[in-house]
Amino acid sequence: MDDHPPSHDWDVIIVGAGPVGGHTANLLTKRGQRVLLLEEHNEIGRPFQCAGLVTPNAMKQVNLYDTILEEVDGALIHGPSGTLVPVGTGGTVRTYVVCRKLFDEAVVKQSMVSGATLWLNSKPISAETVDDRVNLTVSRDGQEVQISTKLLVGCDGAHSWTRRYFKMGRPKELMIGFQTEVVGYNNRKRWLEMYSGSEIAPGFFAWVIPSGNGSCRIGLWSTADRLEGRSIEECYHNLLNHPLWNDRFSDIRETARYCGPVPSGMVKKAYKNRVLLIGDAAGMAKPTTGGGIGPGFEQINGIVDKLSIAIDKNTLSEEHLKNIAKSHFEKMRKEQNRARSLRNLLVSDCEDEELDRNFEQFAKPEIIKLINQVGDIEKPVPLGLALIRKVPAFRKLALKAGMKLIFS
Ligand SMILES: Cc1cc2nc3c(=O)[nH]c(=O)nc-3n(C[C@H](O)[C@H](O)[C@H](O)COP(=O)(O)OP(=O)(O)OC[C@H]3O[C@@H](n4cnc5c(N)ncnc54)[C@H](O)[C@@H]3O)c2cc1C
Repeated sequence: MDDHPPSHDWDVIIVGAGPVGGHTANLLTKRGQRVLLLEEHNEIGRPFQCAGLVTPNAMKQVNLYDTILEEVDGALIHGPSGTLVPVGTGGTVRTYVVCRKLFDEAVVKQSMVSGATLWLNSKPISAETVDDRVNLTVSRDGQEVQISTKLLVGCDGAHSWTRRYFKMGRPKELMIGFQTEVVGYNNRKRWLEMYSGSEIAPGFFAWVIPSGNGSCRIGLWSTADRLEGRSIEECYHNLLNHPLWNDRFSDIRETARYCGPVPSGMVKKAYKNRVLLIGDAAGMAKPTTGGGIGPGFEQINGIVDKLSIAIDKNTLSEEHLKNIAKSHFEKMRKEQNRARSLRNLLVSDCEDEELDRNFEQFAKPEIIKLINQVGDIEKPVPLGLALIRKVPAFRKLALKAGMKLIFS
């Protein structure tokens, strides 16, 4: 897979060939940079830890429609006591479900077609920033190799080596996600389902997502503190055995299961002298849905032109990177913080009784209409604010929301 002659000096070395690393490599290679991607596994797209939802906006950027397994028009959202809120419109695609293995492979392949180099079975062992470069010792197929680069980009996921090695802080929240792949769930075609309640997914939600050929992905996410000592599998079993819904799960047969982290809340400084963090490594997953592919793409898209010019000039000090990235990253961080505040207010910090009361409001036809009009999986803040402003029962939250938004 290595088309280039062996090289020790690169413009950009990207640690991690996931979707965000692959897309970053493609954008930079297309702008003329010599990019090396390091991937610690010996194949792309494994292990797989994702529900596979890719928004139309993110999909448009990579144009990988042939990796789609299902199109989804909306969500059937169940409150803790069973109140149903259907969000979406039949025939209007809200999101895609992809095969993550194919998707990740195809994103990385795009970068290679553009000219990037991929080293599988390779990971950094140590790094040192000198005047005009970062020198790296990399383990490649078990052999130590010395290479250097103008810019090191950490796209190495939730437990990012780059972030830890360069002491770049931590994402604000680390959610735990758990998922199984099953057959035998009788879902409504083109709709996903979401289940809530403190026994199932404390503070968050569980999902059932159609994944093609009669399969579904059943998963949930929460935080360690909200689980209060319970394992995430315990909550999964609570969902399967829930008196309101257990008949839906009675015929399922599991074909796979996985567990993984969801880092949300951008690290304070995603850049340092010649080092940049993008994607999960920087804590980019959305606090409301856990989706990390779209935000990772958006994070790099917003800076890539200026970044490429700076790589050409080799002006990549912390100050330079700050000038390039600060305003875009701050905007994204602020949006994440606001979304998290509203999520906590309306969902995550609510006891089941309160959540049930909120669901009774959500289920009113005029509110469903509002959700469908304003609701955008990409931009949850306007919806949260519209709900607080327009739903009389939520108005008492307005002051609290205002304070949280001001100080977020
Ligand atoms: C259960 C679950 C469900 C999810 N569902 C969705 C969803 O439906 N939609 C969505 O958008 N997001 C979802 N996410 C989040 C999504 O998986 C991530 O946000 C997304 O994969 C981030 O992409 P990334 O490229 O930044 O990181 P990753 O996909 O984690 O890729 C990082 C890459 O770096 C490699 N790597 C790591 N360390 C090193 C190292 N030291 N050296 C070399 N290589 C290294 C890894 O092997 C990997 O290939 C889900 C997460 C979980 C846990």
